[in-house]
Amino acid sequence: MTDAKQAHETGLRRTFAIISHPDAGKTTITEKMLLFGNAIQMAGSVKSKRDDRHATSDWMKMEQERGISVTTSVMQFPYGGRIVNLLDTPGHEDFSEDTYRTLTAVDSALMVIDGAKGVEGRTIKLMEVCRLRTTPILTFINKMDRDIRDPIEVMDEVEDVLKIQCAPMTWPIGMGRHFKGVYHLYNDVIHLYTQGQGNRISEDKRIEGLDNPEVDEVLGEDAAEELRMEVELVRGASHAFDHDAYLRGELTPVYFGTAMGNFGVREMLDGFVEYAPSPQARETDQRVVEAEDGSFSGFVFKIQANMDPNHRDRVAFLRVCSGKYERNMKMRHVRIGKDVKIADALTFMASDRTHVEEAWPGDIIGLHNHGTIQIGDTFTQGEDMRFTGIPHFAPELFKRVRLTDPLRMKALQKGLQQLSEEGATQVFMPLDNNDLILGAVGTLQFDVVAHRLKQEYKVDCIYEGVNVQTARWIECDDPKMLEDFKRKASANLAIDGGGHLTYIAPTRVNLQMTQERWPDIRFNHTREH
Ligand code: GDP
Repeated sequence: MTDAKQAHETGLRRTFAIISHPDAGKTTITEKMLLFGNAIQMAGSVKSKRDDRHATSDWMKMEQERGISVTTSVMQFPYGGRIVNLLDTPGHEDFSEDTYRTLTAVDSALMVIDGAKGVEGRTIKLMEVCRLRTTPILTFINKMDRDIRDPIEVMDEVEDVLKIQCAPMTWPIGMGRHFKGVYHLYNDVIHLYTQGQGNRISEDKRIEGLDNPEVDEVLGEDAAEELRMEVELVRGASHAFDHDAYLRGELTPVYFGTAMGNFGVREMLDGFVEYAPSPQARETDQRVVEAEDGSFSGFVFKIQANMDPNHRDRVAFLRVCSGKYERNMKMRHVRIGKDVKIADALTFMASDRTHVEEAWPGDIIGLHNHGTIQIGDTFTQGEDMRFTGIPHFAPELFKRVRLTDPLRMKALQKGLQQLSEEGATQVFMPLDNNDLILGAVGTLQFDVVAHRLKQEYKVDCIYEGVNVQTARWIECDDPKMLEDFKRKASANLAIDGGGHLTYIAPTRVNLQMTQERWPDIRFNHTREH
């Protein structure tokens, strides 16, 4: 069943995240977009999340920042007649799993690149993740107010390293101290840059038409001529924008500007709301769910501790995939097979965070979680299906947990169970002994877990080194072979927090040899929630 209102509301939504390397300007551009969305009055009010990146001793401060970031995790604002949902991702790469999972909840991404630095490591990694679901990517090349690299060179690098075609939409006029503005290649309009307007929405000073004599007056005749030649060259040498290729993730429209100077952002946003996809269909283990389907469904991609860490109150972020959420509606929590009434879901209108009355596909709602909700959980209006493709990544760092007070074992187990369900860490229990081994993708995760165990579960623990280098989830279609494997390899086998059999390898060589010895057993690098 589809109704017109549902189709209309769904069509308005644009849900995305920013992918970038630290310092490229993600926070700054987020702030400018909120300014355009009238979600904040004055730039400078978005809390810097720089502390995310600091060393472990700053963890207490991070904890406070994290409290704040529950509200900034999702930012909804209107722009250009659409409703934009921006999903924030953690700044520190130690929390990259969180970022990967957030990318499963968006329909497109904005890639922000520092024009002086070009394509950097984190961007490459995040782009790989976007590829898994062929997420369309729009690009903003930032910091044009500095002396950056030749824009053509930067685009070439994007094409070479990230293997995606670039279609410039705007073209910069000069750079650094001589940055004059951008020329819109498709609207044939020059937008002029004025310095020092970064904290507000400045007037759009424009010249219609590249051949307009006004261009010569403003830029000077030589510079105007140079721009005309450059534009001709760029048009000839680069890819033309192709909407379908963008939607297939093969081509990225490229915009230039300065987030700090709040310039070029408007043109990018205009392009974004025009071209970015509205909420897309998603796969479940039963069927493909179209956003226009009338029956409510959604999945949880992130769980976050709320403001007050002593309270153990957590917010589960649910992406609405189909139908409509209404206050006080009943939902089926599919994994535990229970119907629950949801009266107080949070909404994320950046200006006004009240309880949501209704939400549509593409929107994110926050469900209060008292320990029953896990990452990857599906909620429906009664249908038994589960959304797929929300991954767990094999950890790369391992520690053994030791209690300082052995009598707190129960509390420790409970805490680790819950923290692993939230995705804060992964827990492994070896088949052959009573160790508790924690796995993480980034080392800060260990500090977060120790801190939260103490604060929320009153458990003091210490970490010890453990002889594990990598882990793989085990699958095998032949039950007899699996039993045999379990017997022979038990010294390196464990059960993870979700009850899955896992091979914990002391070395990569050991893993490789074991794989060669057991060719019919699958050693998976990721597992679905
Ligand atoms: P994030 O780590 O990606 O969130 O980056 P931030 O938004 O925190 O920016 C990193 C640094 O670059 C900050 O000092 C910003 O002020 C600066 N920055 C951001 N955008 C621009 C820009 O357009 N021009 C210049 N010159 N600096 C910028």
